[in-house]
Amino acid sequence: MDTEVVRRVVPFVDLQRQHLQVAAGLSAAFDRVIARGGFTLGGEVENFEKMFAEYVGASDAVGVGSGTDALHFALRACGVGPGDEVVTVVNTFAATAEAITMCGARPIFVDIVESTCLMDLDLFEEAITPRTKAIVPVHLYGQPVDMDRVMGTARRHGVKVVEDACQAHGANAGNGAKAGTIGDAGCFSFYPSKNLGALGDGGMVVTDDPAIAQRIRLLRNHGEDAQRRHTELGWCSRLHGMQAAFLSAKLPMLDAWNDMRRDAGRLYDELFATVAGVSPVENSGTDHLYHLYVVQVDERDQVRSRLSDAGVQTGIHYAVPLHLNPAFASYGYTQGDFPVAERVARRILSLPVFPHIKEEEVRDVVAAVSEVMRDV
Ligand SMILES: *Cc1c(COP(=O)(O)O)cnc(C)c1O
Repeated sequence: MDTEVVRRVVPFVDLQRQHLQVAAGLSAAFDRVIARGGFTLGGEVENFEKMFAEYVGASDAVGVGSGTDALHFALRACGVGPGDEVVTVVNTFAATAEAITMCGARPIFVDIVESTCLMDLDLFEEAITPRTKAIVPVHLYGQPVDMDRVMGTARRHGVKVVEDACQAHGANAGNGAKAGTIGDAGCFSFYPSKNLGALGDGGMVVTDDPAIAQRIRLLRNHGEDAQRRHTELGWCSRLHGMQAAFLSAKLPMLDAWNDMRRDAGRLYDELFATVAGVSPVENSGTDHLYHLYVVQVDERDQVRSRLSDAGVQTGIHYAVPLHLNPAFASYGYTQGDFPVAERVARRILSLPVFPHIKEEEVRDVVAAVSEVMRDV
């Protein structure tokens, strides 16, 4: 028999492996919701809100339709509106800034630190003006931002803090507090590939402020209060009962899955220590959860296409710094405004990482990267 060489493909993300592990729980959740109803909000959502609030260590949690709406509603509940400025980082997913514009406010971008790709906290204070209403720090790639520093500066200037924890479910952000619980509100996405993912879209705001939680409960559901009066114009952005039931089945696994990501991340770090030309993005000393494993390399596009040929799937987070996207053109930024982010955007490459990635897959990726790096 001919031996055929089958080249193994290392997927960027494989959710099937995760879902097989909790298949019985997901099926039970599905059956329960079909039998009892409660498809939008309802008992499953209330139960999951309690579970999630307890898990992160916040007094309240409000389930919404997406991470984007979590940010949008949290900013509104913090009083952000037309004419206000909200400071955020230029290297993040577009949703962070979209949520600011959805409030009618203006996003004010701040450049990043090259080695971590996180907001440069030396520059952040300079971006605050009398019009600044809030700041949105982003725990990007699963790396917690230095919240002591953010909170100190924000409180000194009297601005609210809405944490974008959409990539950092369960990360220890310092002093035993989890990402999302330190600011006035913390926002999470349950997009399927996030550290905690639904089988569709979903999001959550956590807060210790009952007024913020109450306002978001109105905003997510047409502004309707307990007496069924529409007290203000709201949105249709409810967490679905089915998704809440799936998420309740998955939440007990989150810490173990985060540990598996940390193991994969540490193995990558260890193996890349001897590979010339590859710089892992790392905020050393913090609890990096490796939502994404990002490295910086020269000739990134060439490296990426060679890796694709070798069966290694990769991503770029994010290819275009926010200020250079046509969608944000009206805010008056131009090429050259954020030199670090612009340089880094040409060098970053996200490698496969997910809880169930196998040790030999990580080794295969590093071997493929080393081989490519030898001749670019
Ligand atoms: C995923 C993500 C969001 C938005 O979440 P959706 O659920 O897709 O709306 C916002 N910010 C960051 C940093 C994200 O990664």
